[in-house]
Amino acid sequence: MPSCELVTIGSELLNGSVLNTNAQFLARKITALSIEVAYQVSCKDREQDILDTLSRAFERSDLIIVTGGLGPTPDDITREVIAKFFHCPLKFNPAQYRHILHHFRTLRKVTPLMTRREAFLPEAAKPLLNRFGIALGFYIAAGGKLLITLPGVPRELVKMYETRVEKLIKDKFPDRPRFYFLEAHTAGLHETQIMRKLGKGFFAGRKFEFGIYPKIGEVTIRVKTQEKNLIPILHRELVKKLKGSLYSCKNESFSAALGMELRKCKKTLAIAESCTGGLLAERITDPPGASQYFKGSIVAYSNQIKFRELGVPMELIQKEGAVSAEVAQAMAKAIRIQYQTSIGLSITGVAGPSGGTRLKPIGLVYIAISDSKRNRAFRFRFLGERDKIRLQATQKALFLLWQWLARG
Ligand code: ATP
Repeated sequence: MPSCELVTIGSELLNGSVLNTNAQFLARKITALSIEVAYQVSCKDREQDILDTLSRAFERSDLIIVTGGLGPTPDDITREVIAKFFHCPLKFNPAQYRHILHHFRTLRKVTPLMTRREAFLPEAAKPLLNRFGIALGFYIAAGGKLLITLPGVPRELVKMYETRVEKLIKDKFPDRPRFYFLEAHTAGLHETQIMRKLGKGFFAGRKFEFGIYPKIGEVTIRVKTQEKNLIPILHRELVKKLKGSLYSCKNESFSAALGMELRKCKKTLAIAESCTGGLLAERITDPPGASQYFKGSIVAYSNQIKFRELGVPMELIQKEGAVSAEVAQAMAKAIRIQYQTSIGLSITGVAGPSGGTRLKPIGLVYIAISDSKRNRAFRFRFLGERDKIRLQATQKALFLLWQWLARG
């Protein structure tokens, strides 16, 4: 199998100010092409560091992808250093420069002189014209190896990869072993519960790689195999064994899968949230097209707003407390009626770090769902810091709503 080395350049990646999303994106894409990502190296925009990194990469890897440092400022030295590595001068690319001029004309701005640098590439290289930004990408095929250089801006890199680079890699490495992948996204179960549900039988006598990746309230399963026929068999088994928790086998978020369900059931939704401060509405509106089922929300943080905007009786708040099943139910019902939706969803809780008591400790959260037939509150005690509690509360609310819809 061909091997790949990802070289991400930029001091900001090493000192932690920027998350290296380019490496993650490329690693996923390259792995999916059945090319092994054997090394990921990040280095500073320093000539000797880049030269050393390139030497090592060329010794041990077949495909080397370099990102970053192609901009117009003096600290962007990637193209000069690669030219030096290949012992060749830089050459001007008129097509990219025309694109740069056009870009600034469209913005009705004067083209800064220094952007001309971004139309240069090493003489040994072929251009990868960048129509999504202004820095020119390029590639060099030498000694059976392929070096590809792309701009650091993640949006430009993704577009360039999808439109040009993937095909280039496939053409250069046609004899790759073929792997087949399956991804299953679940909610509401822990890794151990999933493993128990799958049982030993799922793995017995079959050749596939299995990965299980948890995050808050969700677990993703990844399967990789060379046996194409195994994929539909494993898919059927996962659907059966993880019924009620498996929400998608596509690369989509839980909010998107939930949105699909709301659309399918022709239900509309309104939200009243307290301790999550709008986070639930943010997640619900994350997928495009959310306006088809989501009408709106109120962040009813204080008791006055719960009373004034939602009409939750002050006596109820005083008697049961703002964090109670009764208040959660009143909030869910009130928002459903006010916003004229089929479902009202509410959250009220103690996110901390202060405000907890013996009876109402930090992490206590009530979530309620109301429709024309039912109004139920669910009690949870989440552990962790404020952020984690808020995230767990929104995740649980989405999951409860998903189950609610499944029950009809
Ligand atoms: P340009 O000068 O056109 O922006 P460039 O190739 O010089 O392109 P950089 O200057 O290295 O790119 O980075 C541009 C932006 O992209 C910066 O905000 C940088 O933090 C970000 N960036 C660079 N590399 C990565 C990476 N590996 N992952 C995520 N973001 C990155």
